[in-house]
Amino acid sequence: MSVGRAAGPHGADPHGADPRTAEIAGRLAAVRDRIAAACRAVGRPLDAVTLVAVTKTFPADDVRRLATLGVRDVGENRDREAAAKAAACADLPLRWHFVGQLQTNKAASVAAYAHLIHSVDRPRLVAALDGAAAAAGRRLDVLIQVALGDDPGTIGPRGGADPAAVPGLAAAVAATTGLTLRGVMAVPPVAAEPARAYATLARIAADLRREHPGADLISAGMSADLEPAIAGGATHVRVGSAVLGPRPSLG
Ligand SMILES: *Cc1c(COP(=O)(O)O)cnc(C)c1O
Repeated sequence: MSVGRAAGPHGADPHGADPRTAEIAGRLAAVRDRIAAACRAVGRPLDAVTLVAVTKTFPADDVRRLATLGVRDVGENRDREAAAKAAACADLPLRWHFVGQLQTNKAASVAAYAHLIHSVDRPRLVAALDGAAAAAGRRLDVLIQVALGDDPGTIGPRGGADPAAVPGLAAAVAATTGLTLRGVMAVPPVAAEPARAYATLARIAADLRREHPGADLISAGMSADLEPAIAGGATHVRVGSAVLGPRPSLG
């Protein structure tokens, strides 16, 4: 994670007059410090963890500000909003992460801009994304989202596959021509102790790697719990409000 020092693509000085850029710069520095401290605490190299700035509900101008500050990975959870922002920021060197629940009828749209889809959780979505990747002429990297709730009834709108379904889903992804299986993702249940949830996710990830050695990414950790996620082996943390401030509306 390099710290952006250069002027932005439109000559904006990241530490200059724009107060919003200065605010984001301060928040971003604090998050980068937290990531570095969490890596040090468990003896992981700093470059083992990628910060994905989750920009949902924030305007494309904020994505542009993040890019001037050296952010290269941004995440969104709704296709309509993500597609518009990706188009508005097409001149920026960004990787787009789709982190939200994904409907099969949005697969074609997401396949056009996403680099890593974190939320693959059912066979029909695997098939839809594979077809969309072929139609778009792209290969898509995907993660399997795992539901970590103890009670399957609590999985609800957060989505995710039951841990027992992960091997079958992984095999389905591996059998496609358009998708590359890169690892797992989870959003821990609200009531769960994050460290316990992330230890469970780490075990699931290790099991997956035995069958699929290239699937070595773990997307885990948000603003409130990136430290236990990094301790549990997260390679990608998805951080929204700690970088951008309180969300202007419900994402
Ligand atoms: C919004 C969102 C995040 C970021 O949450 P913060 O608490 O704002 O850091 C991470 N992951 C997913 C799936 C999200 O929808």
